[in-house]
Amino acid sequence: MSFESLGLSPALLRALADQGYTTPTPIQLQAIPLALDGGDLLAGAQTGTGKTAAFALPLLQRLAAQTPARGPRRPRALVLAPTRELALQVHENLRAYARHLSIHATAIFGGAGMGPQLDQLRRGVDVVVATPGRLIDHLDRRSVDLSGVEVLVLDEADRMLDMGFLPAIRRILGTLPKQRQTMLFSATFEARIKDLAQQFMRNPREVQV
Ligand code: AMP
Repeated sequence: MSFESLGLSPALLRALADQGYTTPTPIQLQAIPLALDGGDLLAGAQTGTGKTAAFALPLLQRLAAQTPARGPRRPRALVLAPTRELALQVHENLRAYARHLSIHATAIFGGAGMGPQLDQLRRGVDVVVATPGRLIDHLDRRSVDLSGVEVLVLDEADRMLDMGFLPAIRRILGTLPKQRQTMLFSATFEARIKDLAQQFMRNPREVQV
């Protein structure tokens, strides 16, 4: 199977070729067509399986297919990740895959100054990749407006729960439009992940590698 056969756009296929990727990984094969359909997705995949591209490519394709509302750009996609390292890695991947698109992503995480993050948000972004704690700080300052988010990704959801982020996740999800696509990635499908899916997702399709 090839990336072409998964239904990805020419701009994304070019970016994948630039990266030197030739063959989709198993999670990409399973998740990309489902995610491109626009429904919710519950995916069981560990780091190293290619899970980032499995959600990043459909997310970018969806955003690129639509003209953003007029006026200042506000985030149309949100990726929550447990750590600064993962947020940076997801941001880097998004940038690489979006290189032939005019879609801007930014990373928001703790342990770094607020100034540059505030500047980025003020300038306008399409995709925010964030750790939950720092995103709450921005919500409290009203420096980020999540009311235009149509795609939400919870990356490494099991680790976010391990780190005590459930209250922050609940609060963040409370500010998002109900009408959206939600993708949840987790290494395991234990009960608390199923609970999270039940509360915040609509009839998710399940894939696992
Ligand atoms: P991830 O599981 O998303 O952290 O990805 C693991 C690594 O595999 C990253 O370095 C990706 O850049 C790389 N990768 C993802 N998909 C592919 C692919 N289809 N072919 C080759 N490398 C890939």
